[in-house]
Amino acid sequence: ALHQVPDVSLPRYVRVNTLKLDVDSALLELREKYSVQKDDLLSDLLVLPPGTDLHDHPLVKNGSIFLQGKASSMVAPALSPEPGWEVLDACAAPGNKTVHLAALMKRKGRIIACELRKERVKRLKDTIKLSGASNIQALNEDFLNIDPKASSYSKVQAILLDPSCSGSGTAATRLDHLLPSKAEGQDTDMERLNKLSAFQRKALQHALLFPAVERIVYSTCSIHQIENEDVIQSVLPLAESHGFKLANPFPEWQCRGLPVFEGSENLVRTDPAKHGEGFFIALFARKDETTTPHS
Ligand code: SAM
Repeated sequence: ALHQVPDVSLPRYVRVNTLKLDVDSALLELREKYSVQKDDLLSDLLVLPPGTDLHDHPLVKNGSIFLQGKASSMVAPALSPEPGWEVLDACAAPGNKTVHLAALMKRKGRIIACELRKERVKRLKDTIKLSGASNIQALNEDFLNIDPKASSYSKVQAILLDPSCSGSGTAATRLDHLLPSKAEGQDTDMERLNKLSAFQRKALQHALLFPAVERIVYSTCSIHQIENEDVIQSVLPLAESHGFKLANPFPEWQCRGLPVFEGSENLVRTDPAKHGEGFFIALFARKDETTTPHS
């Protein structure tokens, strides 16, 4: 390309909340006013022209579609929980990925959505209500304080870990949400990144301790190696000692983890310039025959 593609030229995405509306009906309804296509990777994602503003659309207001970027919409499918599973969303508010999990699980099974900050639990509950899901339990708790050995978590088969991060993958490229310079300055603050990275590593290590867990997804909206590949690399020995391997959630996806350790080609990145957002997704998977009873 001869010129830098500005953010405004990137397509807009909406995720169809299949708990309330099927994808073809959403497509038909949106086609009355917009040019809409299905996404080539995610079956519940629709692509609209750059600049399309659907904030006040009735389908958004009634929870039939969610304004959710492609990268963010890749996280729950990367975990791909089966209907009937017990799933823990460790850092859940505002809950976009929580309710996406519920849609993928087709109302079957149980989702525990954990959120540390009380004021954000309210937003989480609003999202859950809007989605129409009835199998999500919102929990105001520090994920690190949840006892993995407690009987109430003994059947958790999948964990989605989308911890607090610098947000560097979304902040810099959003022309419609320009951040104050203070927040931009924080992005380069090494101390802050170190603190975030330490928490992210701790949380991921904690997730590995749940006895029945088969799949763990770790995601950030950061472009920094220290919050992404470095976190994965540092927990890899512990993960492997618990029988986990890095799995490859979207083999057809071209943009992969930085080549800083063996296996990093399994990691998924999105490029802010190309995809509008800088996201990172890692999937740990283990098949443990002894701990997969079907209840
Ligand atoms: N997954 C969410 C979504 O898609 O809507 C976004 C999650 S956001 C990146 C991270 C969330 O984790 C924040 O709401 C933050 O308050 C929460 N959080 C931070 N530390 C936590 C902890 N120790 N336990 C539980 N939640 C935590």
